[in-house]
Formats: sequence, structure tokens, C-alpha cells
Amino acid sequence: MVARSALETERRDATVLDDAALVDLAQHFRGALIRPGDTQYDAARAVWNGAIDRRPGLVARCTGTADVRAAVRFARERGLLVAVRGGGHNVAGSAVCDGGLVIDLSPMKGLWVDPAGRTARAQPGLLWGEFDRETQAFGLAAPGGIITHTGIAGLTLGGGLGWLMRRHGLAADNVLSADVVTADGDVVRASAEEHADLFWGLRGGGGNFGVVTSFEYRLHPVGPVVLAGVLLHPAAKAREILSFYRDFIATAPDELTTIAVLRMAPPAPFLPPAVHGQPVVVIGACYAGAVADGERALAPLRRFGAPLVDVIRPTPYVSHQALFDPTAPHGLGYYWKSEYVPALSDALIDTLAERAWGVVTPESYTIIFHLGGAVGRQDPEGSAFEDRRAAHAVNIDAVWSEPARASACIAWTRELWEAVRPHSTGRVYVNFLGEEGPDRVRAAYGEAKYERLRALKRKYDPTNFFRMNQNVRP
Ligand SMILES: Cc1cc2nc3c(=O)[nH]c(=O)nc-3n(C[C@H](O)[C@H](O)[C@H](O)COP(=O)(O)OP(=O)(O)OC[C@H]3O[C@@H](n4cnc5c(N)ncnc54)[C@H](O)[C@@H]3O)c2cc1C
Repeated sequence: MVARSALETERRDATVLDDAALVDLAQHFRGALIRPGDTQYDAARAVWNGAIDRRPGLVARCTGTADVRAAVRFARERGLLVAVRGGGHNVAGSAVCDGGLVIDLSPMKGLWVDPAGRTARAQPGLLWGEFDRETQAFGLAAPGGIITHTGIAGLTLGGGLGWLMRRHGLAADNVLSADVVTADGDVVRASAEEHADLFWGLRGGGGNFGVVTSFEYRLHPVGPVVLAGVLLHPAAKAREILSFYRDFIATAPDELTTIAVLRMAPPAPFLPPAVHGQPVVVIGACYAGAVADGERALAPLRRFGAPLVDVIRPTPYVSHQALFDPTAPHGLGYYWKSEYVPALSDALIDTLAERAWGVVTPESYTIIFHLGGAVGRQDPEGSAFEDRRAAHAVNIDAVWSEPARASACIAWTRELWEAVRPHSTGRVYVNFLGEEGPDRVRAAYGEAKYERLRALKRKYDPTNFFRMNQNVRP
């Protein structure tokens, strides 16, 4: 068989997306339809990762479920490759495709909070900052991620690690129901009562089974002021600090979720200029409970080792959510590799202390997420999410602004990842995967869960219509 050339692919897309076809779609579509040559085209195909440069044949900006159905049916009838875009944050750029059709959900930002019932129904174009702003108006929140400009949809469908997870579980653990447009263009509601198998798969299985057009979340009282912020220590003391940190979090209450970031201190306004650019261990913390209890819980961590900087203080939850935003701006080049680890063993700490600061650019970093608590207590088979026995997810993130540095940055990530791999549980968080091939997707879920996901895929998407994702192959 001869592989289709780029030119042939282009020609094919030009043929299927001619004016007549678009007129046909426009009759059933209310949002904007953006094609190559349109003034909005380059903005519509750009995603968070500036290293991704794909040219879809059409971007269909959906205003609601009816638009999503029309786009799915249009693509299906013409055999088009389809990408689904929520917040556009996926590091592999799976929200855009070369040729084909992007089902862009970004205009769908409706959110309805039921303060009495402590639930919210949210459309998939929302970003976490937008979601939190509205729910916090009622003193409520759902667990999200640690950056405000990540989309709620992709993050929730992969699981969702964030500041509230040890107290209230993952984002996916707090989904009560979801409306889904299937590969046939039908609309179904998935919950514990309806399409329970699909509901299982949506919570961790990513975008494999359909387009979610709304999520219903369980909300929890949070803040609005929480005790949160960061501590900085010099990298020279990394072994001592990370060992203490490991022992400290082993008995930390569920209210406390932390992260450790190994990097050069960014020129953030809340850090004194003297530390900017210095190799540091950053410990981020959020206590999702009473501030006074948080002060007591965090005291030993704050006392240990005389931190260079301590900016842990009572702060609005929405402000804390945005604290790390400047470290992940849109449009730079990004490349990630990740593993779950069962513990921060001495050997792993040694590896990180020796290599994490060998970065090629000052923007690159290694981040260690602190799992356990409510995440670890959920039934591991109750949803597609894996791996609840892990203590941490370690994510090695190369960041560059000059394309000439990309290959050296990628090499650093790969080398450190190879060194971290022997310490892995063997699993990887699916939302931290790049474009790493089918074996890594299998590894993300493990054999048994992957086979269960495959059976579900054969039921809901037997032709693999939704394949621009961490793909479960039917
Ligand atoms: C700066 C940054 C910070 C991050 N922080 C965290 C974090 O704290 N915790 C965490 O868990 N993860 C985090 N992530 C990873 C994040 O969860 C994934 O990148 C996720 O894919 C982003 O979702 P999105 O909707 O923004 O992305 P998109 O790129 O739009 O979507 C990713 C994929 O999800 C699927 N998808 C999106 N929307 C839908 C939908 N409505 N229906 C069906 N499928 C859909 C599609 O397959 C799509 O390709 C972070 C990522 C970045 C870039």
C-alpha cells in the first residue's frame, strides 16, 4: 500500500470541503464556519502549544448541541478526520488536525449553578478560571486543575488533578452526568443511571466515546479565602527538602494538596528579584478548609529549612488558581513526558536532584503532583481513570521560545524521563501524554482497563470516528 502524500491529502480536503458542501452544512449550523484563507483561520487553528502547526480544512465553531450534531453528521457523511477542541491545552495538539474538521466547542461557555443542590451544569468551552469565578460567587467549587486557562472538558475527561483533589477527588470523580453527542450524531445522557457504561468510560477515557456538550458537577463549599501559596528553597538543598517534604505529606490531612516544582525561579512579581533565575525547589500548597486549621497543618513545612521565600497566606481561591498561570503562557513550544510513581524514594530524589536543573531553557521544569487522600480512596474500578495507587505524577516539561532550542529541550526531557522510568508504577496519567503511540496509551490504563475501554469503544465508536485523542483502538 502506498501512503497518501501531503499534496493528495490537501487535494482531497479541498474536494470534500467545497462551497456546495459548506452551504449544506451552513443550513444546519448556527456558529461560525472558518476555512483556510479566512481572516480568523490562523487564530482558530492555534492551540496552547506553539510547537503545533496544523491546518484543518474547516473549523466549525459550535454554539450548542445542535451545532455539534450537525458537525458530526457532516464529517461522518464525508469521511472527514475530526478533532474536538475544548480549551485547546492538550500538549499533543489533539484539538486540531491536518485537513479534516475541527469541532470547536470554545464558544460554548454556559454555566448554571444550583447553590441549594450544590451542583453546576457547565458547557465544554469553559476554562477553569471562568468556571471557578462563577461557582465561587456562591462559595462553591468543583475540583479542577492548577492553571486557569485549561479547558474543563479535556481535563475532566482524562481525570483532572488539582488543588482540591485530596479533599474532594478528581474533577472526573465529581461528574454526576454528561450529555454526549455520539459518533452517530445521537444525543445521550450518561450518568450512574443512564448509559452507565459510557459514564464509566467518560471519567478517565478522554474523548474516545463522543463529544460532551455539558457536564453536571458536584460542588463543594471552598473558601472563598483559602490558605495557599508557595515556598521556595535553593536547589542546592533539594535532597534535604524533598526528603522532608515526602515525610511531611505522608501524614498530611486531606484538606492539604501540594505540588513540588523543580525549576529556575521565574520572574514572578510575588518573588523578590534576588531569586529570579535561581535554581529552586518550589512547594505549592492549598489548604481546602478553615484557614486557622491550615496554619496549624502547614506550620512544620513552613518552618523547615528556612525557606528563601514564604508567600503562603490567606488568599482568594480564584487568585491561588491563577498563581501558576504565568509559567505556562500560550504560544511557546512545549514537550512533556510523565510517569506515576509509588513514592518519592531516596533513589528517585537523588535522580531528580542530580538532573532536574540540567534544563536547556529557564522556563523548563519538573512538576511533582501530590495524589492520595480522596483520590486514592475511590474504587479503582469505578471509572476509567488510572492509577489511584500512585503517590505522585511526575511531569517533565520542556519549554522553549526559540524553535532552534526545541531538539535540545526535547532531549533533556527524554533523558530525565528515562532516568525516572525505573521508579514508575508503570502507568502514566493520560492527560500528560504527548503523541507517544499506542503502547503508551495501553500503559496509561493497564491491560485490563484498556480491554474494557476497547469493548466500550466498539460499542459507542466502532469506526474510530473520534481518533484525534489518546486513542483506544476498537
Ligand atoms: C498549562 C497546562 C496546565 C495543566 N494543568 C493540569 C492540571 O493541573 N491537572 C490536570 O489534570 N491536567 C492538567 N493539564 C493537562 C490537561 O488536563 C490536558 O491538556 C487536557 O487535554 C486539556 O483539556 P482542554 O479541553 O484544554 O484541551 P483540548 O486540547 O481542547 O482537548 C484535549 C482533548 O480532549 C478531548 N476533548 C476536549 N473536549 C471534549 C469534549 N467536550 N468532548 C469530548 N472530547 C473532548 C479531545 O480528544 C481533545 O483532543 C494541563 C495542561 C496544560 C497545557
